[in-house]
Amino acid sequence: MKGILRFHLKVHFQFKVAKKSYLDVCTFLNMTKKQVMSSRIQWTIHIGVLVLISFTNAYSIIPAATKPKRIDNNLKDICESIKNKARHTQVFYSPDPNYFEDIKHYAISSTQYPACTVEPSTADDVAIIMKIVQENRVPFAVKGGGHSANPLFSSTIGVHIAMRRFSNVIVHADNQTVDVGPGLFWDDVYKALEPHNINVVGGRVSGVGVAGFTLGGGYSWKSNQFGLAIDNVIGYELVTPNGTIVDVTNNSYPDLFFGLKGGFNNFGIVTNFRLHAHPQTQVYGGLLVYIDEQRFDDVLKAVMDFRDNNKDPKAQALVSFTPQTGLVTFDVTLFYDAPRAPDDTFKKFINIPHMGTLKTRSFLSFVKVVPIYVTDGRRGRFHTVSVTNLTDRVFQELKNQTIYNAAKFDSKLDAFASFTAEPFLPTYFDKSQGGAYPHCPSTTPLLPIFLQFSWRLPADDDYFVNEIKLSADAILQAALYNGQNSNATKQIRYPNYALDSTTLSEMYGDNVARLQSIRKAWDTDSVMNPTGGFKF
Ligand SMILES: Cc1cc2nc3c(=O)[nH]c(=O)nc-3n(C[C@H](O)[C@H](O)[C@H](O)COP(=O)(O)OP(=O)(O)OC[C@H]3O[C@@H](n4cnc5c(N)ncnc54)[C@H](O)[C@@H]3O)c2cc1C
Repeated sequence: MKGILRFHLKVHFQFKVAKKSYLDVCTFLNMTKKQVMSSRIQWTIHIGVLVLISFTNAYSIIPAATKPKRIDNNLKDICESIKNKARHTQVFYSPDPNYFEDIKHYAISSTQYPACTVEPSTADDVAIIMKIVQENRVPFAVKGGGHSANPLFSSTIGVHIAMRRFSNVIVHADNQTVDVGPGLFWDDVYKALEPHNINVVGGRVSGVGVAGFTLGGGYSWKSNQFGLAIDNVIGYELVTPNGTIVDVTNNSYPDLFFGLKGGFNNFGIVTNFRLHAHPQTQVYGGLLVYIDEQRFDDVLKAVMDFRDNNKDPKAQALVSFTPQTGLVTFDVTLFYDAPRAPDDTFKKFINIPHMGTLKTRSFLSFVKVVPIYVTDGRRGRFHTVSVTNLTDRVFQELKNQTIYNAAKFDSKLDAFASFTAEPFLPTYFDKSQGGAYPHCPSTTPLLPIFLQFSWRLPADDDYFVNEIKLSADAILQAALYNGQNSNATKQIRYPNYALDSTTLSEMYGDNVARLQSIRKAWDTDSVMNPTGGFKF
């Protein structure tokens, strides 16, 4: 019974965004009919309680500061000016449904209510918008998939530029390069590439945006084989801060090319990514969920065995510890980039009692089963620590943090966290093509640990931001204790996971000075300053 209760809470949090029906998920996890019925009854009770809580808390949950306000006349004039001058752009105001679609984020704490949203569909229009924004010095935002958990990184109270009309996927004749629009989610890209039997180095879970992922680094299921997303970009179409459209490649503008590989919106707005494509067959993999706490150490042993013995770049594992209010679960997502994996590759994980199954499927179908945690209406933050070695001590600390936080979450409404370790091969930096995010082949490869905290109430924001920092510090201390060099360049934090208070040198190390000088050369008037994000 306890197991089923745990199971349906897990289903609730992890599969909602994947838009799977409850029965689909049960079938996926090989549950018996009796288990499904029993689980459904408990699920209904759980939903009832949640609805009751939602009604009683409804008013306090919506933060007054983020409700739409009366639009400032000056901002409204600017929105109207964009409407008149940018002919291939639509402008929306609240309460138009398109306005709300444009400002949607993965975590509600990242959403602000702008004066208007603008949806350009050509690079020329982005250039016109950029010039209007520059002349008027208004706050603005550039949003791709809206998965940044840092407030104001892709949201604003001024002019919100939603890139969703940039949604082309163009496969070039040789099947080796692909143009991808920055308004897409990775799911759309994989779907478009499937009939061509090719793929690109993109996001690992459903719903992540192409733009932020690729502009921040991009850890993928294919990183052991091909490096990060930024190592697979051939060129960018970029609208620079002064409104010029440039094709950025390593030959045309080497400095910009370097900066865009990790530098987000510092150098302007990207309107197209040209990416390397790789052949894609069906893949083998799935999600295994472990709910028996007595067996967690066995799972840890299997993880460490995989870390020590896997030498096959086609095999990858993502290991997540998930404390929720009052309970702890452990799941491992296993991926093999071929229709079958060699028998021994995942044997140790399969031999421990679990729910879920590994099977042969399309790449897109695999990505859709990977769990995603924060869902509609929840608040959240990410943070990260990079380790040079996922030592036993580091894994033990992840487990400790999980148990510790699960106990603490009892006093908070509907809170949970996840700690995800990513044991890449020690050779994965070899594929590096350089860039703003330091991942040079001559350095020891970094293994980012992804921390994610999620909660319901705005009043709890400060508490959880502090907690996520404390957890990251504790994990880092465990890494240092085990001999990791405390030199900052060896502890680079991955910008796509980093909390907004993270310093530039903690993310970009020795590259900061060069990035600042590139920014100065291309954004002499600091046009990009009124938009959020890490700024060089
Ligand atoms: C569930 C989940 C799973 C994740 N899994 C992974 C993973 O497996 N690997 C990984 O590496 N990361 C992962 N991430 C992190 C993810 O890569 C970042 O959150 C990323 O920034 C999201 O991109 P986005 O376009 O959705 O975000 P947005 O919030 O839209 O944008 C993020 C930043 O990019 C800027 N930006 C957006 N579009 C443009 C543009 N066209 N031009 C210039 N700047 C632009 C924005 O202004 C903002 O500063 C995950 C995040 C979540 C929530």
